[in-house]
Amino acid sequence: MIIDKQECQELKLLMERKAIYPGSFDPITNGHVDIIQRGKKIFDKIVVAVLDNPKKTPVFSIEERVKMIEKTFEGDPAIEVTDFDGLLVDFAIKNNIQVVIRGLRAISDFEYEFQMALMNRKLSPEVETLFMMPSLKYSFLSSNLVKEVFQLGGCVKDLVPPPVEEALREKFNF
Ligand code: ADP
Repeated sequence: MIIDKQECQELKLLMERKAIYPGSFDPITNGHVDIIQRGKKIFDKIVVAVLDNPKKTPVFSIEERVKMIEKTFEGDPAIEVTDFDGLLVDFAIKNNIQVVIRGLRAISDFEYEFQMALMNRKLSPEVETLFMMPSLKYSFLSSNLVKEVFQLGGCVKDLVPPPVEEALREKFNF
């Protein structure tokens, strides 16, 4: 059987190994970026999904959070950025994705992440959660810590991608 170029492209898209990396990303930090880069070694495409959670009051709007991630990965065809609300497993299934990536920093992350992963498995057994560890130097890093340090005048240059540093300056008038 001979297939043409378009069919070949469609087949490639169908065979793409995709994973979803969900989170608040308020804002994205180098710890998140580290996990995404590690994920790229295993998957063809990482869908970074920014959660629009009405229960949380983020510093950055959903549009701002999406834009910072888009700018960070500009020109990288392996990264897709989107927002979502509702149940993560519903979003994953609707987009034909079977793997959820989550980052594990320290023991403190474990209990919450374990609960979430098991709940997601109960809701949708076909969706698998994959935990990844960041580089040791980002193991202490969180979005909240970055915001706190920045507001107190600390340097966050090595902790966030350049578009985030710029957005922090604009947000807090530094
Ligand atoms: P959420 O509100 O869903 O926890 P976050 O944006 O805080 O959203 O985190 C998204 C994911 O990235 C979570 O799995 C979290 O544990 C992980 N994560 C956050 N910061 C880091 C970091 N510095 N290194 C590795 N993983 C991280």
